[in-house]
Amino acid sequence: MINFEYARAADIAEAVRWAASDPQAKFIAGGTNLLDLMKENVERPARLIDITHLPLNTVEETTNGGLKIGALVPNTDLAYHPLVERRYPMLALAILSGASQQLRNMASTGGNLMQRTRCVYFYDTVTPCNKREPGSGCSAIDGINKQHAILGASEACIATHPSDMCVALAALGATVHVRGPSGERSIAFTDFHRLPGKAPERDNNLQQGEIITAVELPAKGFAGHYTYLKLRERLSYAFALVAVAAALEMEGETITEARFALGGVAHKPWRDPSAEALLHGRAATEANFEKAADMLLRDAKGCGHNDFKIPLARRAIVRALTQAARGTPQPVADKKIR
Ligand code: SF4
Repeated sequence: MINFEYARAADIAEAVRWAASDPQAKFIAGGTNLLDLMKENVERPARLIDITHLPLNTVEETTNGGLKIGALVPNTDLAYHPLVERRYPMLALAILSGASQQLRNMASTGGNLMQRTRCVYFYDTVTPCNKREPGSGCSAIDGINKQHAILGASEACIATHPSDMCVALAALGATVHVRGPSGERSIAFTDFHRLPGKAPERDNNLQQGEIITAVELPAKGFAGHYTYLKLRERLSYAFALVAVAAALEMEGETITEARFALGGVAHKPWRDPSAEALLHGRAATEANFEKAADMLLRDAKGCGHNDFKIPLARRAIVRALTQAARGTPQPVADKKIR
């Protein structure tokens, strides 16, 4: 572990000013990912800017009927917040399927968005990795790539984003609020994270010095028809091989609105409005769900060890949409994929 400076920001303006003036600085809140990366010598910040005392830890209703979640609200508090449990249960379910209780107690909302890939080569500093060291190569493409991306990957990187919470936020159509040296701006959730392209070292579209201040949910929470289906190698404390956040609005047996996003398959939560549009006005049948799954996965491509993810994702989408259409979340035992 390297030597680094530590400073606690008194307010948001100070945090932004410090971060903007020092490209080697990193914000720290719960530290559940950053400290691991520092111990492994993957992240080497010259300075840690402690933001834990900033006033970003409230959940507030917005005037348009939505919810504004401060960037420092812990994952546990968010999952068990009465308004989230009642109006956005898919988000609560996704959060509770991630990590462990201790980690969720420490992890913040903003930090969940900022967590980095769990690609084993990214953590292994003796192997080439374009994300850790641009231009060094990608060890995963011809290596062990069972966990890696089947959508949106590039020749430079096939890593996946590890978050569960972000998959639900993408499906819900959340917005990320940030503040930086040029003031405040809002980013549609699906535009916050980026695909690797030729610059996999960049996980998201934040600019130098910008800090996440809040995540805003729209009024519609799809509380009547939703599920979060997470498939992994053990039933707890593991990252997703494939995860699906699925939400429907129904009139009788007809779907009036559909949302679904995939986790564990790309450098960002994967959502495609054209696949969702395929279900609008259609009956909630397995055949229609299969068509929507095929549309979402039309460009899916495996790298060898992860080829199994393509049929697994197809079946998971159909299962998740079927569960959502039933209208009640199912117990874990009912989430088995044929
Ligand atoms: Fe690095 Fe990305 Fe390749 Fe993993 S997949 S080794 S993170 S470049």
